Amino acid sequence: ANVRRLWTRQISSWRHAIRDKDSSVNAFICTSQPGSTSPERLPLHGAGIAVKDMICTSDMATTSSSAMLKDFTPPFDATVVGLLREAGADIVGKLNCDEFGMGSLNIHSVHGPVVNPFQTASSSSTPWVERERRSAGGSSGGSAAAVAAGMCYAALSTDTGGSTRLPASYCGVVGLKPSYGLISRWGVISFADSLDCVGVMAKSVAATKRVFNILNARDTKDPTSASLSARETASKQATQAWPTFALSDLRIGVPQEYFPSELSQEVLNPVREAIKSLRCRGATVVPVSLPCTPYALSAYYVISSAEASSNMARYDGVQYGLHVPAPPGADLTSAAAIYTQTRAAGFGSEVQKRILLGTYALTADAFDNYFLQAQRVRQLVRDDFNLVFRVPDVLSPRTPEDRPNDQGVHVLIHPSAIGTAPPLGALDADSMATYVQDVLTVPASLAGLPAISVPLVRKGEEWPVGISIVGQWGCDEMVLRVGHFLENLQ
Ligand code: GLN
Repeated sequence: ANVRRLWTRQISSWRHAIRDKDSSVNAFICTSQPGSTSPERLPLHGAGIAVKDMICTSDMATTSSSAMLKDFTPPFDATVVGLLREAGADIVGKLNCDEFGMGSLNIHSVHGPVVNPFQTASSSSTPWVERERRSAGGSSGGSAAAVAAGMCYAALSTDTGGSTRLPASYCGVVGLKPSYGLISRWGVISFADSLDCVGVMAKSVAATKRVFNILNARDTKDPTSASLSARETASKQATQAWPTFALSDLRIGVPQEYFPSELSQEVLNPVREAIKSLRCRGATVVPVSLPCTPYALSAYYVISSAEASSNMARYDGVQYGLHVPAPPGADLTSAAAIYTQTRAAGFGSEVQKRILLGTYALTADAFDNYFLQAQRVRQLVRDDFNLVFRVPDVLSPRTPEDRPNDQGVHVLIHPSAIGTAPPLGALDADSMATYVQDVLTVPASLAGLPAISVPLVRKGEEWPVGISIVGQWGCDEMVLRVGHFLENLQ
């Protein structure tokens, strides 16, 4: 009964926090009605969890931060939402994001930008203070901000090219992008299917893991859900490679290409310190090279835009979502006029840009030079990772000559972002600088690998810096364990 009272108090404290803080953060698009408390025996009994607005919920609208879906309430819950409810979680609300997940700063949203809630006040008794307005990162800015501001226990995000790890780094929270295919995408609005993953954000690695464990299940409704045998083989291989879970038995690779000239000193220094501490505590840290990294960002934007252009075709002004009627006396046939009017009014400029880019990359003239070339780069990026990892890739075809790579590393470590959160308004929404934000996160997305961003402890007024751990496909547990070590470094 005491535990129940504690959690009930906790839930209402989240709802209070949303009421008190969200007017200055803008993380929430809507909140749910408080329901009855779930049974105590359930693993997420009483945990208040908020969900990115690209994930379908039957009791709240799912807008993807787009005018196109402004009034859309799906008739079903996404598999992940169902799993959380079954585990006893209270889904407290829906979270702001970049429109259809396209962006890095959460500034492309019909609901307005999310303001980074980072504040120096560490005690909950200190009054909430609004500081400089900086970006919360994107596209899952609302998820990171809601967790950072203590408005929920954990949040679901999505990650196509870095949308979980980048905002986690900017807001100072933990963000996990699991291996592609481990968590169901059924009921998650698609941006780029071959890259989209559901992510988990929380204040600690333990809380992230607690939620991930609930969601990590095969779903026959999602054709890209990883098979049971691939899951089992990967976790067996991971345990064989690191049976002791001791830092002294861990080989960590530092990829030299992840320290580009654009990396700010503000990020470099704490990352160096963290790597030094890992070494002092017994880990073997070795430099490695992933030579195709510089090409990953371009390949990512070609592939993701191509897939997005196809996914966005379903918003036709007829089946569901926004419908703008043909103007009287339109030249076009009325169906074409509805289509044109609806999409011109419903999509923001960033989404329109991706549709144009993606459609172009898929035209007969450009297909070989852009789309196929990007797919080749994607394979090279995967090969780079496979060459350095100790654990073999269970998803790629094996040959009898393949042997475990004893000199390989268990995980890679690198800064999550090239800088701290940029001030809102500092970056022109159309400038190249906004696309470069995810230069360090896209390679793991192209290769479908698990990656976690963990905040490094910073002093006083310093803005948060995240460090990322990347593992072989299916080594999510290993990545979480290393994340836990990093969390406890200082
Ligand atoms: N910033 C990247 C993009 O705009 C990644 C977004 C994401 O991971 N959803 O495409």
